[in-house]
Amino acid sequence: MSARATAKANSTRDRLRTLLTEMMLIPGLSGYEGRVRRYIARQLADLGLKTSTDRLGNLIATLDGVAGLATAMLFTHMDQLGFVVRMIEADGLIRIERLGGVPERALPSQAVLICIGEGRDRIGVIANKSHHATTPDEKYKVVPYADLYIDAGFASRGEALASGVDIGTPIVYRPQVLALSDNRIAGTSIDDRAGCAVIVEVARALLKHRKRPTIHFVFSVQEEFNLRGAVTAAQALQPDIAIQLDLLLATDTPDMGYRGDVRLGAGPAMSMYSFHGRGTLNGTIPHPALVELFDGTAKRLKMRLQRSAHTGALTDSSYVQLAGSGVASIDLGFPMRYSHSSLEVCDLGDLDQLTKLLVEGLVSVNSVFSLDRDDHA
Ligand SMILES: [Zn+2]
Repeated sequence: MSARATAKANSTRDRLRTLLTEMMLIPGLSGYEGRVRRYIARQLADLGLKTSTDRLGNLIATLDGVAGLATAMLFTHMDQLGFVVRMIEADGLIRIERLGGVPERALPSQAVLICIGEGRDRIGVIANKSHHATTPDEKYKVVPYADLYIDAGFASRGEALASGVDIGTPIVYRPQVLALSDNRIAGTSIDDRAGCAVIVEVARALLKHRKRPTIHFVFSVQEEFNLRGAVTAAQALQPDIAIQLDLLLATDTPDMGYRGDVRLGAGPAMSMYSFHGRGTLNGTIPHPALVELFDGTAKRLKMRLQRSAHTGALTDSSYVQLAGSGVASIDLGFPMRYSHSSLEVCDLGDLDQLTKLLVEGLVSVNSVFSLDRDDHA
């Protein structure tokens, strides 16, 4: 790689770091994505892209391309999981309802942000019973979220109400970013602000390409709630292809043995199979044309494209693929550790390579690219 190319690669990585860090610090519970959406809209406006917002709150920008080529929707979710206020006790302590896949055993002692409004948010603490009063049988038990409470410094219900907290007020983990090393970042809602950062960078790079298909960038809402935000966007845009970006479970920690072979820092990943299997009986088997497209692209870029196949998780693509007469769909992503906890971990090198894979893959959608099932094994 030439010195000039190295400098360019570094700048993409630096921009990804800045975008990711800034977005991780913005709260955006499912259904309350406004602050994140406004930030991304500003980034896209700086690139000269016009955006629109639909009634659910999805942010959409379209880059018109060569007519006649398959059109693509590249999407990711803006929202994060968290809580809403269920009730406020007379003494000012706050009870919570969970929103999304919140891991209950990782909650006590966490700091949270009670999202009253920009400039008026309050910090709180999810209480952990005093250790000196913990009985032996309580020691190794997970406390159900319904029994937890938040101490935000209020002395009474009246004080909490006066500060703007009410039933339904959104709460998220206190936003934080920790640089673990040059490339590894820990913090809140890497899922899926990392996907958002990558799409902004993909849009920046694609603006420089003349020969490309029409691409719709969609930043969706309410994925952590029930995976339906992106559906209305797909129905309205009617793309031929849908590429969904999110984390893929890194399996390179001692507690993830035998779950798969996805390593943090070893490059982007592609999901070959997902199925939730609990409640939400849905998942995604990728369209073979897209598997070939991205496998071939990775090979050309001399980049490793890792593979994932597992049950227990699913993404918006499960529903997006059912829009209209069917959308050729695939889940691509970045390896991530400790999903849905307050301190998730990702690697900037993986995001950088995912960006390049997407740009190169999308510009290679040409007139011979076929979505016909009979053209593929
Ligand atoms: Zn996600």
